[in-house]
Amino acid sequence: MVAGVVGRLARWVLDFALPPRCAGCGTIVDDVHSFCPDCWKGVEFLGDGGCLTCGMPLQATEQRTCGACLARGPRIARTRAAVAYGDLARGLAIRLKYGRKVAIARTMARYMAPLVGEGADRLLVPVPLHRTRLWGRGFNQSALVARELSRRLGIATDPLALARTRRTPPLKGMSPLQRRKTVAGAFRVRDRRAVAGKTVILIDDVLTTGSTAEACARTLKRAGAARVELVSWARVVKPSQLMR
Ligand SMILES: [Zn+2]
Ligand SMILES: [Zn+2]
Repeated sequence: MVAGVVGRLARWVLDFALPPRCAGCGTIVDDVHSFCPDCWKGVEFLGDGGCLTCGMPLQATEQRTCGACLARGPRIARTRAAVAYGDLARGLAIRLKYGRKVAIARTMARYMAPLVGEGADRLLVPVPLHRTRLWGRGFNQSALVARELSRRLGIATDPLALARTRRTPPLKGMSPLQRRKTVAGAFRVRDRRAVAGKTVILIDDVLTTGSTAEACARTLKRAGAARVELVSWARVVKPSQLMR
C-alpha cells in the first residue's frame, strides 16, 4: 500500500522533473508524449478517413463503406487505428510490454483518443490476455492504454469485463477459417450486467487480422452489448492500401 503510493509519487515527480523524450528514439523533445521530427517522418498516421466501418482506406470506386464491409457486415461496427504497423509502431508496442510502460501508454493514448467514437453508455474494454500470460508479465498492456484513454476522455473502463478462458497459439500463417476456429470460444464476459446495453470499445495494441477482436465482439454481443467498436494503436496495412 505504502510502496504503491510512494511508487506513484516517484513516477509523478519523474514525469515532471525529466524533460520529455521522443517515444520513438528517446531524444529530448519539446512536447510530452510525442515524437522527434525524425521519428515523426517514419510514422504513418491512419487518421479517421477511410471506410466508416472498418477504417481501411477506400478504393476510388468505393463510397463511405468499403466493399468487404458491405459484403459481410462485420461484428465490429467501427474500427480505427492510430498508426500503420511499422518499425516505430512495433518498437512502441514492444516497449509497452517490457519497458517504459506508463509513458508509452500515454503516448499511444494521446494519438488514439481522437479516434474513439462519440455516443452514450460507452465502456472501454482492453482485449484480455490469458491469465498465464498475465502472470508472466504482471499486467495487460492494453489495459494500461485503456486506463490512459479513460483518464483523457472521461469514459469508464473495465479491464476485467472480458476474460480469456484459454490460451491461443499465434495466429500468424493461419488461414482466415483456421484463425476463426482457433479463437472461437476463447473469451468470456465475467458479468453480463457490466456490458449489457453498452457501446463497448475494445482497446488493443496491435491489430493484425482482426480475428481475435471479432471473437471478443461476438462474446460481448451475446452477453448483451448494444454495439462493439475497436480502437487500436497500430494496424497491419499493406503499403498499397495507404493513402498518399
Ligand atoms: Zn525520435
Ligand atoms: Zn470496411
